[in-house]
Amino acid sequence: MALDTAWAMRWIALTRVEIGAQREYLIDLDRQIGDGDHGENLDRGFGKVMEAFEATPPTSVQDCLKIVAKTLMSTVGGAAGPLYGTAFLRAAKVAVDEPLTAEAVAALIGGALAGIQARGKAERGEKTMVDAWGPAYDAAKAAAESGATPEQVLAVASEAAHKGALATEPLQATKGRASYLGERSKGHLDPGAVSSAIILAKALEAAEVE
Ligand code: ADP
Ligand code: MG
Repeated sequence: MALDTAWAMRWIALTRVEIGAQREYLIDLDRQIGDGDHGENLDRGFGKVMEAFEATPPTSVQDCLKIVAKTLMSTVGGAAGPLYGTAFLRAAKVAVDEPLTAEAVAALIGGALAGIQARGKAERGEKTMVDAWGPAYDAAKAAAESGATPEQVLAVASEAAHKGALATEPLQATKGRASYLGERSKGHLDPGAVSSAIILAKALEAAEVE
């Protein structure tokens, strides 16, 4: 489907369902190298986003992403709330015209990455959600530049985020709560990178609906 308001709402609705389904898994990942609240935080946050959509239905992709940003910032505690809030806010800023073009999809992902990095100051390789969004942006940008469709851009971004999340396992965390563990943070997936890969997978799935 075209990447319009209906797509954006479907994206977030699918994310909400999958985060709910993966709640315990995300809690478990965060228990290994953090405080075990990641799944609970996101489950509550995206639940609140759906309530906000019902109260005031989004009128554009930009509006939709802004509601996500504001709701996550105000309802999700810990590191992930402000990080995802800033990501969606920056993504919203570039979602001006719709349906989104391939370039706009890459810019949206780049905006999210820039927001996360502005807020959390993490570089790639520090075992954070940047390790999912960074490769996703690279792949999206390259695909858009070589003439891919918007849906193809989402496909390569989703795949790169998934691989990026898996690649956090051997890394030592040097940002966020997991960094307190030092060497012991090695050998575990980063929960935020895993939830980021879920979010990008759902952006693709939403686009695949006819
Ligand atoms: P908290 O760590 O406060 O309990 P969450 O458990 O909700 O918050 O989120 C943890 C995730 O946040 C980590 O797995 C990591 O991906 C991400 N994160 C933490 N600090 C940073 C940072 N400085 N930059 C980017 N991502 C970060
Ligand atoms: Mg946590």
